Amino acid sequence: MTEIIVKCGYKHCQHESRELLRDSATKIKSIYFHEDCAITKITINKIKELYCKSVDKDVSIPQLLGVINNIVFKKGINAQFLLFGLEYWIKKNVKISNPYVLHYIKDNKIVANAWKVKNKKIGGDSNLC
Ligand SMILES: [Zn+2]
Repeated sequence: MTEIIVKCGYKHCQHESRELLRDSATKIKSIYFHEDCAITKITINKIKELYCKSVDKDVSIPQLLGVINNIVFKKGINAQFLLFGLEYWIKKNVKISNPYVLHYIKDNKIVANAWKVKNKKIGGDSNLC
């Protein structure tokens, strides 16, 4: 059996090597990704769409993506937690005046607790630690 090596197509790939076995890669359209890179990419897209749809349809997309990328890649916050926090704030009618407010999600104890409860329910460990 030949093992075929492919390259992760995610430009924000945080893995030491972008090369991986094709069998363990996730394919989206014709591009291969590490599984977690694919999840992060999809999740960030969901955050973007949710923000545009439910917070501010006229938001500057480059600014919004800049803030999201900063939180996820520079601060190391799980993109799924960020999405959860944004959904939670929208549900609770928290006023989000601009994308920079998203930085506060990681320090918000109420969101962090709700995230913990949610992860306990599905039996997984918290991704926060
Ligand atoms: Zn990757």
